[in-house]
Amino acid sequence: MIERVLVLGGGTAGWMTALALVKRVRGRAPLSVTVVDSATVGSIGVGEATVPAILDYLASVEADVPALVRDSQATLKAGIAFQDWRAVGHRYFHGFGLYGAGANGIAFHQVLAWLKAQGVEQELPLEDFNLCAQMALRGRFAAPPRQPRVDHDVYRWALHLDATLFAKHLRQQAITSGVRHVDGLHEHTGLDPATGAVASITLADGRRLAADLFIDCSGFRRRLIGEAMRQPWVSWRSWLPCDRAVAQPTRSTAPATPYTLCQALSAGWRWRIPLQHRVGNGHVYASEFMSDEQALALLETHRNGAPLAEPTFIRFDPGHVTQPWVRNVVAIGLSAGFLEPLESTGITLIQSAIDKLLALWPDGPAAPALAAEYNRSSRLEMERIRDFLILHYALSQRNDSAFWRHVTQAPLPDTLAHKLEVFRANGHFVRHEWETFQDNSWLAIYDGLGVVLRQQDVRLATFEAADVRRACEAMRAAIRRTAERAPWSDAEALATELMVAP
Ligand SMILES: Cc1cc2nc3c(=O)[nH]c(=O)nc-3n(C[C@H](O)[C@H](O)[C@H](O)COP(=O)(O)OP(=O)(O)OC[C@H]3O[C@@H](n4cnc5c(N)ncnc54)[C@H](O)[C@@H]3O)c2cc1C
Repeated sequence: MIERVLVLGGGTAGWMTALALVKRVRGRAPLSVTVVDSATVGSIGVGEATVPAILDYLASVEADVPALVRDSQATLKAGIAFQDWRAVGHRYFHGFGLYGAGANGIAFHQVLAWLKAQGVEQELPLEDFNLCAQMALRGRFAAPPRQPRVDHDVYRWALHLDATLFAKHLRQQAITSGVRHVDGLHEHTGLDPATGAVASITLADGRRLAADLFIDCSGFRRRLIGEAMRQPWVSWRSWLPCDRAVAQPTRSTAPATPYTLCQALSAGWRWRIPLQHRVGNGHVYASEFMSDEQALALLETHRNGAPLAEPTFIRFDPGHVTQPWVRNVVAIGLSAGFLEPLESTGITLIQSAIDKLLALWPDGPAAPALAAEYNRSSRLEMERIRDFLILHYALSQRNDSAFWRHVTQAPLPDTLAHKLEVFRANGHFVRHEWETFQDNSWLAIYDGLGVVLRQQDVRLATFEAADVRRACEAMRAAIRRTAERAPWSDAEALATELMVAP
């Protein structure tokens, strides 16, 4: 039986994992969970935008969400505004909700595409039918209805949060729930000579800590999965050339928008994440096309407000470790893989890794079949996200820099090429196993980047265009009215409503 778990690393991944283990695993004996981290190493300190699944994690560990919102200075995130991605000056929105309401089993975007093809209506942008986007772009947001009446009433929300304060809040909750914290620098890993599994780790001060299962949350250092288990890294830089980031928080100069801003720049893009007490800014760029000095200068021209700290430069290689679970070591967080933060997938991957580990919980230190399944599904999940991120670049119409010419001309992975081809043909979504992003998210990017369908769903031929147009206009007006009447966005009020919901 697994009775002792040692989590190496006390960043977001380490504390999220430790808290989930102590809250959710019930064995014959209580699970002993220890987190080892070192203030001398520190954590990455970025990772401030989430996706709606964060609410599921918080519910699963019985978090006090309003307190967490206060402690981590969190604000509401209803989606992402993509500025200058299709072309300079163009904006589209990826909201966390469905589009319109389909008819007779035909998806709404196909109805709208058909209507346009009839020449009846050119002025019905798909984005107008996404209630979540319409509220967010007005700085408003209402709690999602518990029993939605129509598809466009189906939406969710997420949080922007201060990564350091978030980890601190989780740490407090974890320690209160029974997790032991050891402050120490990991120096040596002791392997069992018979099995090759990790038997113990030794800290710089000589303390030796043994466990049955080791979770590597040591970030890019990959102390256990890389150094001890020697798992190689699979780099996807040929598809996702951004490999650097520079981050710098600034003072707020305007009320927080309920969305992340992602603005495309000449060799990458920048983020703006509004929090209660400051704004998180960063520039993600490709070192092949831009130097660190140029990247910082570009960030400075775009950000508003006085800087609150020196800029931090971060290097990464987009990709993943070949096998995140080897013998009795499971890598979670940056040690397992990292693409780029364009769709805020770091924290959601941590969460999904925890869920997978709990679902495949081993009954002893050696569980090769469970590890193989964990590794298979983790790889698929990373590949799906990789494809989704590549799409953001590949469909751009920009060619104003060497970077944009490179990313728009690079060959696509076969899986993405097939998805795109099927969607272009008649608006059908190809869904693979382990998709993090659902159809509405893919639609937001396809439509935002201007994909036009080659043919319409044949079932629509029986529809009367004038009737469909009237119905669409009425739907658009209803969505606009709802968005205008929504209250101003307030994460704490939403969190409180969530907590009191039956
Ligand atoms: C530029 C950038 C932007 C990002 N933006 C987002 C975002 O908006 N949304 C999102 O979801 N994700 C984002 N991410 C990803 C997110 O930051 C991470 O997924 C998340 O912070 C988890 O990091 P971690 O805990 O794995 O690693 P870290 O935060 O690096 O933590 C590593 C831990 O290991 C410990 N450690 C390391 N070596 C030793 C040692 N020898 N001895 C003892 N302890 C040790 C450290 O002390 C630390 O506690 C971003 C990442 C980057 C690089």
